[in-house]
Amino acid sequence: MLEKVLIANRGEIALRVLRSCKQLGIKTVAVHSTADKDLMHVRLADESVCIGPPSSGESYLNAPAIISAMEVTDADAVHPGYGFLSENADFAEQVEKSGFIFIGPTAETIRNMGDKVSAIDVMLAGGVPTVPGSNGPIDSDNKKTLAIAKEIGYPVIIKAAAGGGGRGMRVVKNEASLLKAIFVTQTEAKSFFGSSVVYLEKFLENPRHVEIQIIGDGQGNAIHLGDRDCSLQRRHQKVLEEAPAPNIPAEIRNSISQTCVKACEKMKYRGAGTLEFLYQDERFYFIEMNTRVQVEHPVTEMITGVDIVKEQLLIAGGEQLRLKQENIVISGHAFECRINAEDPNSFLPSPGLVKRFHAPGGLGVRVDSHLYNGYSVPPFYDSLIGKLICRGNTRKEALKRTEVALDEMLVDGIRTNIPLHRELVRDIGFIEGGVNIHYLEKKLEAKD
Ligand code: ADP
Repeated sequence: MLEKVLIANRGEIALRVLRSCKQLGIKTVAVHSTADKDLMHVRLADESVCIGPPSSGESYLNAPAIISAMEVTDADAVHPGYGFLSENADFAEQVEKSGFIFIGPTAETIRNMGDKVSAIDVMLAGGVPTVPGSNGPIDSDNKKTLAIAKEIGYPVIIKAAAGGGGRGMRVVKNEASLLKAIFVTQTEAKSFFGSSVVYLEKFLENPRHVEIQIIGDGQGNAIHLGDRDCSLQRRHQKVLEEAPAPNIPAEIRNSISQTCVKACEKMKYRGAGTLEFLYQDERFYFIEMNTRVQVEHPVTEMITGVDIVKEQLLIAGGEQLRLKQENIVISGHAFECRINAEDPNSFLPSPGLVKRFHAPGGLGVRVDSHLYNGYSVPPFYDSLIGKLICRGNTRKEALKRTEVALDEMLVDGIRTNIPLHRELVRDIGFIEGGVNIHYLEKKLEAKD
């Protein structure tokens, strides 16, 4: 069992991790930048260490500073949250080499999954359906590349193997523009991600984003906690998620989840992870795996009753998976609204003083947020200031609960996207369920 965990993150997820640590009786160390000394979890942690100036590069991404903080405080493990160093294989390796535990998969797994080409290889070997494509890097043999594209059919999408955050991708509509587009994407990939390796995939025109939550113990046991639908996106950023994904036939849903479990057992996956898929015409196509806890994990917790972070902590402490698949019961439906400090129309960040904060409540309502009255949102980081998660026995009930909670929620002093969420939960297409990944952008365009 872990005794002391250092939380290498900030904001709502740092607080979220701290809560699970406390429930397990694990001591906590908060690390923070000079701009973040007033964060809620810093106040609640047993110890705190300032690791650098506001810029993330010198604080939350500063691996040596974080590892020294572990040494100084005698922590035995580090929880990276999401973002920052959570999917940095070199960091995971340095942590373990320094004699500490990285709460997550092995550096080797992170590295394999971080490279989208090798991730596809692993998934193919595990029987997971992928998008038809080059199944490997594009080389200098143009004839071969043109032939692959022709076979899968246009439009195709060129993607950087090392890409992330929705960058390093380019859609190609016809053969005439393919080779030039590959060249441009390779050049961009080199400068963004330090690797010019790109690959090719069929571009799916109107898919949904559906993902499967997995937990493995690194000893060959894994389970799934069902699926989530994260199709409401703006600029490839998720806005409002739900679990389970609506309107998917039970046998298709079960079959993909079981396939994911088998693939994760085969690679002896350790910790929480998510396999992301595009879903179109009742078929799943793997796009990537996230080797960390995700922002949207609470919707899964709400319908399974499993505390995902707690499981991460227990597994990192060396325990075998205590949950059995047959004991996981999916019950009800949940939505998560990501509350951002931003203008609801222009989407420009809106940091500053939160004069008043009122979190909604009631049965099935959960707010994961580090906000409090008088807290000042710094301008240096991601604009996520909280998440409103609502569960109901049915999708309809969960949606109504979200609607009522959003109307009750108050963040005074800065602008937030709450008005956008209020609109979305009343949107006829969204209420029906199963909208595709272009739905929100199209809706926003129509509003303009
Ligand atoms: P990133 O790591 O940058 O998030 P992903 O591979 O997860 O990249 O893709 C991000 C988004 O790009 C997807 O959610 C989807 O909207 C779009 N996308 C990626 N691959 C395809 C594809 N083959 N067809 C259609 N859209 C795609």
